[in-house]
Amino acid sequence: MRLSKYFLPVLKETPKEAEVISHRLMLRAGMISQQAAGMYAWLPLGYKVLRKIQTIIEQEQNRAGAIQLLMPTLQSADLWRESGRYEDYGKEMLRMQDRHERDMLYGPTNEEMITHIFRTYVRSYKDLPLNLYHIQWKFRDEIRPRFGTMRSREFLMKDAYSFDIDKDAAVKAYQRMFVAYLRTYHRMGLTAIPMRAETGPIGGDLSHEFIVLAETGESGVFCHADMLDKPIPGPDTDFDGDLSGIVADWTSLYAATEDMHDDAEFGAKVPENKRIAARGIEVGQVFYFGTKYSEPMGATVTGPDGKDVAVHMGSYGIGPSRIVPAIIEAYHDENGIIWPVSVAPFEVSLINLKSGDAACDAANVKLYDQLHAAGLDVLYDDRETGAGQKFATADLIGIPFQLIVGPRGLAAGEVEIKHRKSGERETIGIEDAVSRLK
Ligand code: ATP
Ligand code: MG
Ligand code: MG
Ligand code: MG
Repeated sequence: MRLSKYFLPVLKETPKEAEVISHRLMLRAGMISQQAAGMYAWLPLGYKVLRKIQTIIEQEQNRAGAIQLLMPTLQSADLWRESGRYEDYGKEMLRMQDRHERDMLYGPTNEEMITHIFRTYVRSYKDLPLNLYHIQWKFRDEIRPRFGTMRSREFLMKDAYSFDIDKDAAVKAYQRMFVAYLRTYHRMGLTAIPMRAETGPIGGDLSHEFIVLAETGESGVFCHADMLDKPIPGPDTDFDGDLSGIVADWTSLYAATEDMHDDAEFGAKVPENKRIAARGIEVGQVFYFGTKYSEPMGATVTGPDGKDVAVHMGSYGIGPSRIVPAIIEAYHDENGIIWPVSVAPFEVSLINLKSGDAACDAANVKLYDQLHAAGLDVLYDDRETGAGQKFATADLIGIPFQLIVGPRGLAAGEVEIKHRKSGERETIGIEDAVSRLK
């Protein structure tokens, strides 16, 4: 992509309304644009990051055996009357009527709808286990939307729902998602700690929140310091096999959100020098809630003994639009964002130090084409502006590598590569540049 033809409305000034660094940087880097309280348009650069995050989530959900579908954003209130949550959900639910005066709502979550889909088609225990997920916009009329897309009213969620014949099987489904989540956050560069959590309006009796430690986090959390360095299950993990050992290991050390925190237990189980009491960002949550929805909504299957039983369910949420700022909270410096390679909007910033100079332009375009041919996604800064502005933009938007090409270097057959993260610069021969970045 040529920057001169791209839509990247970077801001010079720091927006006053933004309280936290990730919100400031997302606005300054032209990633999002506020349209109403807690509602954001994703501008091209931000949308690219959001898509990368979604792709990682999809790959890990699929690996764990979940199957993707897509449900609508608007739902009929009748489904929610069946589960009893239409009244219970309160003011966070955005309610509306269609032209026939039928009660509708903008889905804050999808337990009811997926349970309806399940009961429409599935009859036998032989069709289980089943885990269906989608990535769709949700709306919650948050009392205090803030920090940009960290807590917005319209936000993207990956929500998966598992269906099993009994509690034992449902716990295995829970373990598959638990392990998939460990892998998902890790691939995005995040250290997300699973912590015992309250189940809230979703209901049920087994739940973990995945928490990224951050000073700006809205939750108080407590955990054993060793939770931060546990090895992450590899891509060869057998999701058809027994995952209980991995989950037992990950849940053996103390880790709890403030709602579930027990100070006496924390003191007894965690040596003083290992106690972390901190703030954290909830980037996901997994629940097992048994027959809370299947029972009232009649989602049953015929078991091996010929009797009908209500299926045991779980739900598993991740917030991609919250993960974007969570990653920025973890990876930035005074000059801007420092994207982990796996979620970076582009892989290389190609910086032309003298746009308008025929020889320099030709050398840049040649490199640009070669980088493309090597499969790299490149943002080519071909604007006719000073080098200082180009460096500032490249640092702000945080692409992992900058390939800097100017007349002086070219005369010596050389270009420069700057690593955004370390700031380290290396001068290399122009013919080695592409293979160095590949
Ligand atoms: P919170 O405690 O922050 O209000 P929640 O517990 O209400 O979140 P869940 O119902 O567990 O959220 O939804 C699953 C995931 O969706 C959350 O872990 C979070 O990553 C994301 N999410 C929830 N609410 C928002 C929001 N208002 N803006 C952005 N992401 C959100
Ligand atoms: Mg909430
Ligand atoms: Mg929560
Ligand atoms: Mg939650």
